[in-house]
Amino acid sequence: MRLLVLSDIHANRTALDAVSAALQGRWDKIVCLGDLVGYGPDPNEVVEEIRAKATATIRGNHDKAGCGIDSADDFNPVARKAALWTKEQLRPENVEYLKQLPSGPFQIDGVALLHGALKNEDEYVFSPAQALEGLLESPTQVTFFGHTHYQGGFSFRDNNLQVIHLKAGPGQAFAALQLDKGTRYLINPGSVGQPRDGDARAACAVADLDHNVVEFWRVPYDVEAVQKRMLGAGLPEPLALRLAIGR
Ligand code: ZN
Repeated sequence: MRLLVLSDIHANRTALDAVSAALQGRWDKIVCLGDLVGYGPDPNEVVEEIRAKATATIRGNHDKAGCGIDSADDFNPVARKAALWTKEQLRPENVEYLKQLPSGPFQIDGVALLHGALKNEDEYVFSPAQALEGLLESPTQVTFFGHTHYQGGFSFRDNNLQVIHLKAGPGQAFAALQLDKGTRYLINPGSVGQPRDGDARAACAVADLDHNVVEFWRVPYDVEAVQKRMLGAGLPEPLALRLAIGR
């Protein structure tokens, strides 16, 4: 079983299409860790694509804001503006779809899916200290999380917590991590639609569960086309500019 793990697509249809094209034939199921919408110009298209193709999808904080489960009051002003725009754009059936998405942890094929932290879907897991609870208490040996938009993650074995710094270099499509049987993992596939780890390419992961390998992928896409649609839609300029630098 090979899972294509997508997270934080953020209404960026161009990045999602590029990932789909680059990874064609390399996966059996799609799982999605939330934040289908928010920030980007294509909320309906992305929701419809994931509705049609993903086997399991959990919700993120931007999905909750986009469908009205949560207000965007605790978002920063730029994110709030985009969230309100998203809410206006979403077609009723897509609002209903987002409303019924489960929160993590969600188990499938022996792995667990989270948006943020194990016990709080809205919490960011940036540091080893923040990762410890998920590593120790997740129901599965391998757990996927998103929310930070940083590809990589953490591993834990024999009281030793390590940060996974594995990235596809420039011109390289992916970097592979071999999973050890006795090690627990919290793995972030990175963000498809708004990477913040300094690499502007779309990020995702393929987990080959039969061979215990996770591939961290980076896929170039037409950033300028997305920026044009964002500015045309009246979305805040800083959100368009950041896509070009991956921050
Ligand atoms: Zn996000």
